Amino acid sequence: MIVAEGKPLEEVYALIAEAKKVLVVGCGGCVTVCLAGGEKEVGLLAASLRMKRKLADRPLETVEVTLTRQCDPEYVEQLDRYVTEEIDAIVSLACGVGVQFLAERYPKWVVPALNTKFAGGTLAPGRWEERCGLCGECILHRTGGICPIIRCAKSILNGPCGGSQNGKCEVNKEIDCAWQLIYDRMRLLGRLDDLLTIEPAKDWSKAKDGGLRKVLREEAILA
Ligand code: SF4
Ligand code: SF4
Repeated sequence: MIVAEGKPLEEVYALIAEAKKVLVVGCGGCVTVCLAGGEKEVGLLAASLRMKRKLADRPLETVEVTLTRQCDPEYVEQLDRYVTEEIDAIVSLACGVGVQFLAERYPKWVVPALNTKFAGGTLAPGRWEERCGLCGECILHRTGGICPIIRCAKSILNGPCGGSQNGKCEVNKEIDCAWQLIYDRMRLLGRLDDLLTIEPAKDWSKAKDGGLRKVLREEAILA
């Protein structure tokens, strides 16, 4: 899932400094799971913004809605009835995709209330960690299911760098050396020989698909 965290209140407050009425929009997808942009966070942010504006003697009106997903027009269009003339700004508590989908649909000042951090998963309640850099050309079959692009501090494709000590990364002693993990895993799988094949430098121009990546599924388009 996409993992995000809330921007500091002061930052969001400054972004809507001119507005009298704002639409605060949450997302029921990934950002609800990582406790950053669901219904609860929408309520908290809207209340905090109103409180600050009240203390500043410049009351703010808020309308709060949480969509199933902000990255899908099927749900985004449900906002049409809320995006009225009086709405001066839309505050999106989605990942960057959701913010852009709202900005593409409405000729309004749309501001992000979250910082989108990474594609990752849940390690424990309240703890998320990155696992994929969305490189577009997955090589996990070469590395025992451990991503060197994300988990190695230098994103080395043919490691290790030689600086690892006691299994820890030389750049950040808090994290395991990705290439130690890869070595251990490949040894466990009896596939150490696979590591002798040199992985060519990643062709990011190909991986990035010319800048704006797309996935097309003909069967879904025709359906
Ligand atoms: S190699 Fe790493 S960054 Fe690329 S798709 Fe696979 S997991 Fe993601
Ligand atoms: S010590 Fe390991 S994880 Fe850290 S940069 Fe070197 S190879 Fe990558």
